[in-house]
Amino acid sequence: MNYSGNIIRPPSEANSIILQVTVGCSYNKCTFCGVYKDTPFQLKAPETINADLRFAQKYCRGQKRIFLADGDVLILSQKKLIALFDKIRQQLPWITRISLYGNARAVRNKSAEQLATLKSMGLDRVYMGLESGCDAVLHSVRKGETGESMTAAGRKITAAGLFLSVTTLLGLGGTALSAQHAIDTAEVLNKMAPHQIAVLTLMPLENTKLGREVAAGTFTLPSPFEILQELQLLISHLQNVRCQFHANHASSYLPLSGRLPRDKDAFLASIATALHGSTPLVPDYRRAL
Ligand code: SF4
Repeated sequence: MNYSGNIIRPPSEANSIILQVTVGCSYNKCTFCGVYKDTPFQLKAPETINADLRFAQKYCRGQKRIFLADGDVLILSQKKLIALFDKIRQQLPWITRISLYGNARAVRNKSAEQLATLKSMGLDRVYMGLESGCDAVLHSVRKGETGESMTAAGRKITAAGLFLSVTTLLGLGGTALSAQHAIDTAEVLNKMAPHQIAVLTLMPLENTKLGREVAAGTFTLPSPFEILQELQLLISHLQNVRCQFHANHASSYLPLSGRLPRDKDAFLASIATALHGSTPLVPDYRRAL
């Protein structure tokens, strides 16, 4: 398979065929994100994608799922997506699930009918980076969205019958907005009602604006203890969401994974124990993105 630049895929796509369709992210302005900083967004050449599909046809018959990388493949025109999905269906007919990243802008650009068409052609799962539901945080990290705009995008995905997985980022409000970040994020998630919530913890990267703000002392990263308090606030404010909940990313100080609402009390009990110092946290040297 031909891969260019950093290939990022959600943990739940670990066993999927990773077909890189685009390189980079069409937005690429979030101050905390360094993944595609020096990578201009582009669609890969059709012959490269075709060669990868032929490779998958020969060597990937054991994998039933396919993930389309990079940053936001959903931003492609409907015509291009339909042509791509057609190829996948013809050449990899055993595939049962197509997944991709879709930012709110990409979702807005698609009508409900267009999303339904993609679903009928095999699209099953859209991964969306919410990061925060707090408008002040979203503004400060130049996400280019508001809690309201992302709620609308999320609801559009689920209304089309697609599985919605949403990522949030603990610590993104710094110490100044820590509590508001947690509470507002929970409120947006309550309205969005995703099928899966993935909670990551901010690890500032040197090549990002936010990383430079941390180094300059203009952004104060919450301590591990404060990050746990954020997680506690976030979970305690989640109401009536029925979804998978994963806070066990490599960046996490306290890995938690389960279902809501079933495991809510158990999660809160684990966090309380950790806040009292009875559970060791993952040390910084073992955390990763
Ligand atoms: S966080 Fe997502 S939308 Fe923002 S620059 Fe990175 S890949 Fe693009």
